[in-house]
Amino acid sequence: MEELQVAGFLDNSLVNGQGLRSVLFVSGCHHNCKGCHNKAMQDFSYGEKVNIEEIFFRIKRNIPIIRGVTFSGGEPFEQAGALWKLAELVKEEGLNIWCYTGYTFEYILNNINNEGWKELINTIDVLVDGRFEEDNVIKDLKYMGSSNQRTIDVKESLKNNKVIIYS
Ligand code: SF4
Repeated sequence: MEELQVAGFLDNSLVNGQGLRSVLFVSGCHHNCKGCHNKAMQDFSYGEKVNIEEIFFRIKRNIPIIRGVTFSGGEPFEQAGALWKLAELVKEEGLNIWCYTGYTFEYILNNINNEGWKELINTIDVLVDGRFEEDNVIKDLKYMGSSNQRTIDVKESLKNNKVIIYS
């Protein structure tokens, strides 16, 4: 049974992507951004191990009021090997997926052979990429923490072989 180390879960949130969404916070992150708001979640043993069927069951209870699911953290790509399997279950329900990552889209594509990265990126609709930069915080940035981050339309970007911003 596949498990994820989970730091937290919100049944429905309006501030972690477009529309009402369930949000999964996974544990563990190496980016160590200055001013990180989720410092406790940088620890890979923070929270608890939960099998993906259990998480999926909890997500399903929020259908039909949610529009999609957001993966945040922590660093979702550090647990991509199991996370993509949950992502596929979510997609089968017709929900869209947003994912926050400290990696850039380009870095992910350059390291696509890391365990589960290809599968995970292929399930994501919108990727909010890049580390949090405390010195580049702009208030009221929709869905992002600092100005270096981008909301990327992953499907269009992969199809056109260049970054296309989600609008
Ligand atoms: S990527 Fe996110 S969780 Fe990781 S250190 Fe940066 S702000 Fe914190």
